[in-house]
Amino acid sequence: MQTETTQLLSQRVLQMEESQTIGMAKKARELAAKGFDVINLSFGEPDFPTPQHIKDAAKKALDDGYTFYTPVAGYPDLKKAICDKFLRDNDLHFNNENIVVSTGAKQSIANTILCLVDPGDEVVIIGPYWVSYLEIVKLAEGNAVIVSGTIENQYKPLISEIEAAITDKTKAILYSSPSNPTGAVFSKEELEQLADVLVRNPNVMAIADEIYEYINFGGRHYSLGAIDRVRDRVVTINGLSKGFAMTGWRLGYLGAPKWLADACDKIQGQFTSGTCSITQRAAITALNSDMKPTFDMTQRFKIRRDLVLEKSKDIPGFVNFIPDGAFYLFPEISYYFGKKSPEGKTIETAMDLCMYILNEAQVSTVPGDAFGEENCIRISFAAADEKLIEAFDRIKNVLSKLS
Ligand code: PMP
Ligand code: GLU
Repeated sequence: MQTETTQLLSQRVLQMEESQTIGMAKKARELAAKGFDVINLSFGEPDFPTPQHIKDAAKKALDDGYTFYTPVAGYPDLKKAICDKFLRDNDLHFNNENIVVSTGAKQSIANTILCLVDPGDEVVIIGPYWVSYLEIVKLAEGNAVIVSGTIENQYKPLISEIEAAITDKTKAILYSSPSNPTGAVFSKEELEQLADVLVRNPNVMAIADEIYEYINFGGRHYSLGAIDRVRDRVVTINGLSKGFAMTGWRLGYLGAPKWLADACDKIQGQFTSGTCSITQRAAITALNSDMKPTFDMTQRFKIRRDLVLEKSKDIPGFVNFIPDGAFYLFPEISYYFGKKSPEGKTIETAMDLCMYILNEAQVSTVPGDAFGEENCIRISFAAADEKLIEAFDRIKNVLSKLS
């Protein structure tokens, strides 16, 4: 008798949730393929094309014959460009030996977690958190301990709450700032307090995901790893997807103490090897060039943030936090729970609301559960202004039909 295919699958993958950011974007594409005019606000990806000088560098890389395997942790001159960037923008003092380049920040995070976490170890994740953190910790057979901020405290949990979550099993604290999904940004003072937590807990590392570094509307970005007393206790994650509009190119990187960078190099050498040669050559140009295109994009995102905040004022029951960075609105929407659609379907969860909005307004969003906050939905504002206006008008219209 033929075995059921799913019986062959490992518990590892069976227990893993599909990425809901990717899942909702997939649903949007399916609907679009059926001919619907879908506005996809579920995927966190800049709608801008990659700046021309970076594309030119990629074309030149091909012509120059960069078509061979690359060193697992990245070309030395790319690592040097990353060290220069870390020093210039973040006051982080790294040498090439501290840098590992990967196929996206997602892989940099996975490398770090897989290198630090044994079965039963704990990772304190500051929530609401980015969707993949939890699943990566599960993949390493670790236990995620979520410490969440609320809209009342600007989506930043108290430092005392973070410290209280640390046990003798804790290996790391993991967070993104600017945050996906909330757009909250840790201030210098808050990072100083987090540094004190690390000092008081000498066996715990911090993993600082700074992928939205440049998409910061409030002022300067600060890096935890730049605080002298914890320089050797922080893994700084970054990448080119967001700040340089290079999501499809797949380039992330980390700066870490040598012992951990070596381990990430080793693990990556058995999984994927070095990331794409052409992408790496283009990344050198991106990091070493004038940052004007990046800052111009940030300006556009800020205008769009203000636009969607304004538009959502007209939508009853959307309780907004004003994001200081990244490109997401994360409204609290529990006002709609218990309401019925014209067809008589009750909205019980954020997923119900997202599906209602997708099916009735053809706008895709992501339920907050994916980020550990079941009363919210995430709406990306990395889309053209006209599309955002149209999307919010449609959302407002279909939500007004719930009673
Ligand atoms: N961290 C955060 C907070 C993200 O939102 C994302 C998704 N873009 C990533 C990491 C992964 O980025 P990438 O793999 O495209 O570099
Ligand atoms: N990180 C982006 C998001 O949150 C892209 C999708 C993904 O990699 O999960 O939407």
